[in-house]
Amino acid sequence: QLILAIETSCDETAMAVIKNGREILSNVVASQIESHKRFGGVVPEIASRHHIEQITVVLEETLKQANITMEDVDAIAVTEGPGLVGALLIGVSAAKALAFAHQKPLIGIHHIAGHIYANRLIKEFEFPLLSLVVSGGHTELILMNEHGQFDVIGETRDDAAGEAYDKVAKTLKLPYPGGPQIDRLAQDGEEVFQFTRALINEDTYDFSFSGLKTAVMNTLHNAEQREEEISPEDMAASFQASVVDVLVTKTYRAVKEFGVKQLMVAGGVAANQGLRRALDKKFAEEDVEVLIPPLHLCTDNAAMIGAAASIAYEEGHRAELDLNANPSLRLEKYMKRSVRKS
Ligand code: ATP
Ligand code: FE
Ligand code: MG
Repeated sequence: QLILAIETSCDETAMAVIKNGREILSNVVASQIESHKRFGGVVPEIASRHHIEQITVVLEETLKQANITMEDVDAIAVTEGPGLVGALLIGVSAAKALAFAHQKPLIGIHHIAGHIYANRLIKEFEFPLLSLVVSGGHTELILMNEHGQFDVIGETRDDAAGEAYDKVAKTLKLPYPGGPQIDRLAQDGEEVFQFTRALINEDTYDFSFSGLKTAVMNTLHNAEQREEEISPEDMAASFQASVVDVLVTKTYRAVKEFGVKQLMVAGGVAANQGLRRALDKKFAEEDVEVLIPPLHLCTDNAAMIGAAASIAYEEGHRAELDLNANPSLRLEKYMKRSVRKS
């Protein structure tokens, strides 16, 4: 079974060929970071234009690297949401055009289902499993009892973890994207500032990061007023300590409560070294398998979309040619509920 997967939900034009759901034959990512850097964030119109320019080049490269032609492909999968509507539309339109021209089945995939299924490229799933999704737009704890069934047990009430990283980085005048920059600085800093851990002891799996972001800004602002120097390394380390503590504490509680066999971390912030180390330490003595994908499978890519689509394909889910981009697509029971059976 060969799936050609397409992902254009944000600022990466990505395509991949996945064999039998778990083997990557090719995985091409054309990043636009350089074009967005000078604006300090992703500019939707620029993202769409780049996707249009890149998509056929990326397709050719993806097929070439996998050493296959369109005729070899069993199905075409595409991220239908959530994300930037103009960016999603380029991928969805390309997928529909290819499906129509080559008479191949079409499968729509939820971007976060993709982030979770990146882990299946590393290891076969064992249920029940818990996913900690930490990305630019999402911070969620998701429980799965079977393939394609997603139970969101907690989510952020305001900023996503990656969003908080990027905003704090901006305040520290670090280049975009700020997550990796803060991560790097934090390695050389100390937790000099004791920031609050929002909702950490409350009876909820929800998160909140906007208060922390404001606390960082206030601390920097006050120091500036008093003409005091603040070490960016210490600020990064203090901010990261709060984020990581909250993520690890809540995840641990959920692992215990639901007795999960596997814990998987997904999304761009899963690349964070501080988070990886803290999770390894916390779960070293626990009877749960902790999976964290390699860095290039944590950030946006199409291999993860192909991995998720493989299961949907096996279960007979097909989209029609009226498939549309949905910028605010919900994840819950996504593959089970919202995709038509053929
Ligand atoms: P979503 O998946 O929610 O739609 P997205 O696709 O923009 O959002 P990803 O590409 O999964 O998000 O992740 C990007 C985010 O990950 C950015 O906010 C970036 O700063 C953050 N990030 C990447 N590497 C690190 C790191 N080492 N430490 C912390 N954050 C990081
Ligand atoms: Fe993403
Ligand atoms: Mg991205």
